[in-house]
This record gives sequence, structure tokens and C-alpha cells, in this order.
Amino acid sequence: MEQTTTTARNIDELFSKRPLIISGPCSAETEEQVLQTATRLAATGKIDMLRAGIWKPRTRPGSFEGVGTKGLPWLQTAKKITGLPVTVEVATGKQVEDALHFGIDVLWIGARTTVNPFSVQEVADALRGVKIPVLIKNPINPDLELWLGAMERVSKSGIEQIGLIHRGFSSYGNTEYRNAPMWHLAIEMKRRFPDTLMINDPSHICGRRDILQDVAQTAIDLDFDGLIVESHIDPDMAWSDAKQQITPERMGEMVANIRWRKEDTSSEEYHVNLEKLRQQINNLDDELMQILSQRMKVAEKIGQYKKDNNITILQTNRWNNILDRAYAKGEKLGLTKDFVTRYFDAVHMESIHHQNKIMKQ
Ligand code: PEP
Ligand code: MN
Repeated sequence: MEQTTTTARNIDELFSKRPLIISGPCSAETEEQVLQTATRLAATGKIDMLRAGIWKPRTRPGSFEGVGTKGLPWLQTAKKITGLPVTVEVATGKQVEDALHFGIDVLWIGARTTVNPFSVQEVADALRGVKIPVLIKNPINPDLELWLGAMERVSKSGIEQIGLIHRGFSSYGNTEYRNAPMWHLAIEMKRRFPDTLMINDPSHICGRRDILQDVAQTAIDLDFDGLIVESHIDPDMAWSDAKQQITPERMGEMVANIRWRKEDTSSEEYHVNLEKLRQQINNLDDELMQILSQRMKVAEKIGQYKKDNNITILQTNRWNNILDRAYAKGEKLGLTKDFVTRYFDAVHMESIHHQNKIMKQ
């Protein structure tokens, strides 16, 4: 996949352009800000579509909630000046009507809307009989069913061009990310819908500028179809999401700095070598399964022994012991603590399940 400048003449062509690069401010603030951002983004030659939030769904009241419908003509002008199509977020039927009235090219459903089937249905109903591409962000919480449900609702209203935006998932407690990427969830959606456009939103995953490039690169390495990134003429002064926005010029650099890789190559040697390595992985996975099955058999024996002696399944001390040993060993073997924790949790659950079966016999 090579980054190329837009040659798409209509929105259908654009929707199938890879990579698809969307950028623009978190929020439209003033006409001047929208037009300047748009012209400076267009000047980079790296952008395919402009974004701007007109109605902002804020988690807490009191934050800037968007300029509303009066910002839509600014986007029309931005489109006229740059030739770039425009996309906005919609969360209600009225917002869909207004966006369509002002010739918005693509709509997106935000993370706070995807979580709510009533809202998604309202948007879907307003879209009946309309031909427009709709991008659906993942829901705030890591629930693929909600993401799927939103796709189904929009699709049932007759919308044919549906794309997905992976913007990470909210989790309690401070992490390095504003929204944890949980890449495996986006990858699972890609697996289920291999032909559906899937772009990444590094801005809302990172919540800060310094790791944007890195997350964008990860997405491209995972074969995402494009990016949506927030940019602002004066990021620090932005009325919303100031910490994560970058200037249009920085946006252009970021796209230029991405290493675009090919998903496949016709080289014979590459395929032979890759096949060999994949076979090794398959063999190792088979061995792992064998060993895990043996481990469960031992657990069952322990279960039987505990049952005969009328002892509880779980002895907390023993479990802490296992974990401590595993962390120490994992560190030496180059396995992250996070992985060791999740792996042992899963093994432990399965083990308890096997022991329970014995106890209940
Ligand atoms: C946005 O794109 O500005 C936005 C509100 O994002 P999200 O729905 O991902 O929080
Ligand atoms: Mn934002």
C-alpha cells in the first residue's frame, strides 16, 4: 500500500481509496479556523477528506458542545475551496437531516452513540432512502456486539457504504492511552468483515500528540485501510481535545513518515520461508495444547484428591505462589507481566472448571 494523493473524482471512488486519510479539527470553532485548517491540510497533498465535529457529545456537561448547524455552511465553503469532501458526526435524526441539507459527503457515528441502540436506530431511520457513506466508531466499551448492532441497524436502513473506525476503548484507571486500543477487537471485526473499510483514529486512542505517529504506524502495519486524525491551526488553543490535536503541517509530515507496507508479495522465496515459519508456529501451538491438556488432567487428579480429603478447590496462597513463580520466569523469558497475568488467569479458570467437574461428580 503506497500513499498517493487523491485522484478520486467522486465519493464512491474515494470510499474505496486505500489508504483513506481523513483529517480536520475535533470541533469546528469559527469559520476562519475551519477554512484555514482545511486549506493548510489540502496544501500538504496528503489528505483525502476533511472532518469536523459540529455537535460534540461530551462526557461531562460544561465543556464546549459544538457550534451546531451554523458550522455546516463553513464546511461547504471548505469543500468548495479545497475540493475535498467533508464528514461530520451525527447522533440524532435532526442532525442527519441538517448534515444532508448542507451537502455533507460522509457521516460518522461517534463512540458515545454506538453504545446506545435507541440513538443508532434514530440515526438509521433518518438515513432511510438516502445514499451516503456512513462510518461507525467502535462503542466506548469493549463490546463487539454493540459495534455489530450499529452496523446492522445502519445497513437495514438501506445504507450500502459502511466503514468502521477503531478509536479504542474506555477503561478505568490511568493508562498510557486515553482509550486502550485493544487491537485484537478491531482485528476480530476485520476478520468478520474482511471487505469492510476499517480505519484507525489514533487521536482518540492516544489523547496526546507524542505517541500518535507510533499508533498510526501500528494500525498501518496491521493492515488498516486508513486513518482519521484531528488537526487544528493552533492545537493548544483548541476548544476541545487540545492535547491530542496537531497542526495541518505536522499531519502532513506524519502521513509522509509512515512506512507503507504491502500486504502481500509475489516473491516465491518469501512465501516459502513464511510457510516454514508458520508451520513452526502451528507445531508449537499443537504442543502447547497437548501440554495444557496434560496440565488439566493433573488438576483433575488434584481435584479428586481434595474431594477425598474434603478440601476447598481454591487455596489463595498456592495461587499467589504460582503467579510469583510465573512472573519471575516470564521476565527472564521475555514475556510481559500483562500477558503472564492474562494467560495464567485463563489457565486457572479452566483448571477450576475441571476441578469443579470432579467435585460435583
Ligand atoms: C470525535 O471524533 O471528535 C469524537 C467525539 O470521537 P469519539 O466518538 O471517538 O469519542
Ligand atoms: Mn475529538
